Amino acid sequence: MLSPLDYFFGLFSLDIGIDLGTANTLVAVRGKGIVINEPSFVALERKTRRPIEVGSRAKQMWSKNPKDILIVRPLRDGVIAEFEVTEAMLNYLIHKAHEQSWVPIPRPRVVVGIPSGVTEVEKRAVYDAALSAGAREVYLIEEPVAAAIGAGLPVQETRGSMIIDIGGGTTEVAIFSLGGIVISRSIRVAGDEMDEDIVQYMRTKHNLMIGEPTAESLKIEIGSAYPLPQERIHTVKGRNLVTGLPSAVEVSSIEVREAIAGSVDIIIDTVKDALDDTPPELVGDLMESGICLAGGGGQLKGLAERITEEVNIRAWVAEDAMTCVARGAGRVLEDYANLRRLLVGLERGSTKHG
Ligand code: ADP
Ligand code: MG
Repeated sequence: MLSPLDYFFGLFSLDIGIDLGTANTLVAVRGKGIVINEPSFVALERKTRRPIEVGSRAKQMWSKNPKDILIVRPLRDGVIAEFEVTEAMLNYLIHKAHEQSWVPIPRPRVVVGIPSGVTEVEKRAVYDAALSAGAREVYLIEEPVAAAIGAGLPVQETRGSMIIDIGGGTTEVAIFSLGGIVISRSIRVAGDEMDEDIVQYMRTKHNLMIGEPTAESLKIEIGSAYPLPQERIHTVKGRNLVTGLPSAVEVSSIEVREAIAGSVDIIIDTVKDALDDTPPELVGDLMESGICLAGGGGQLKGLAERITEEVNIRAWVAEDAMTCVARGAGRVLEDYANLRRLLVGLERGSTKHG
């Protein structure tokens, strides 16, 4: 239960949910929705490793490739690469979210989504970083749990429900029942891997060298996991590997599907594997409730149809799939009494909230 003092503070203070994604970082503020949505990039001064820019401004510097600046994607592989960088990012986010308020208010309470399966040390690092970045109280929540709350799944109920969150670096699968996660899987195959597949495909099949941003837009425009009602063609520009000259090639959606098929198959196998370990009664629940897709990668064309066909359970894409984690994390404090048991505890003695 919240103490009366907490309740009083809660009326005036800012409750924010943070999604520290491998690709995008989002902040949701109670009553306002998503207030920050930026790529997860940090620019550091190379010599001192002092953070100088965060988000889209850091990403812009990346393309210019400055000599004395180091650009890092601190969460690229789903882990917190460096404490200072993560702290700098949280600092920036908490202050920016706090700044947008026009009345003087207490420091915010913050719920941060963390990838499932991170170590105790990493949890501690995020917790400490958020505290020293100015949060009054810090709570951690596993990303698939936050995603499920954000997607409106009945996670606190007895009956089963399932989410697949496909981000840039990781795909997380979670099955909920009796108010908690009963089965989960986390793999390092997601959107970034598909982009790399496309780069590779263009190189071997078309002798064309393209960058990851081009591959990503090709994936988003015409990539798919299931035959499209109308297959499409896209012109891709890059450098011909034989002549070394700029070149444009026509690529079909069928080819892009073929390019990313390996990664899509790995994701589908992970889903099947999770379902294999699921008790039969719970599978029965899922046949009723379906499978919810979240995260940017969950929006891949035809993925819901493909999963529906492969596992014989209806799959659908969450509304506003890319913001589920931040919105879900933000919602926890609103319904703290019911949702608090879904939060991640830190090991005893390491925190007052543990
Ligand atoms: P993270 O949680 O790791 O920050 P996001 O949930 O923000 O990741 O998703 C980012 C990933 O989603 C990127 O790989 C991006 O290319 C991919 N993505 C975004 N929109 C689409 C789309 N419409 N179709 C397929 N992939 C998409
Ligand atoms: Mg995510």
